[in-house]
Amino acid sequence: MKIITLDLSEFGGREKRMTRDLLNAYLTPNKDKTKLFNGVSSIVFNQYSGEILATDEDGRVAIESGGELHDYFSCPECGNEGIEQDFDTSSSCCETYYNQVTES
Ligand SMILES: [Zn+2]
Repeated sequence: MKIITLDLSEFGGREKRMTRDLLNAYLTPNKDKTKLFNGVSSIVFNQYSGEILATDEDGRVAIESGGELHDYFSCPECGNEGIEQDFDTSSSCCETYYNQVTES
């Protein structure tokens, strides 16, 4: 998996637009719906998934969805991913992970 951080020469038009949309959501009042995310420290282009993600200084991740910025969850055990509304916690590994990140 190749992950690129902030090297815009590696970003295509699609990724630049996604970066713009992410920053728009971040900078527009009432569009930042994150509860855990602590401010954009870096922009990451995940070439494996095609996603543009924002990371904060603590390594928390946020993603733009529907014009809003949302916390992004990613279970380290099974790889289940998603924003809060979509993140499936029916597996015990995902539930444990979700509880850990939302409690700290
Ligand atoms: Zn899991």
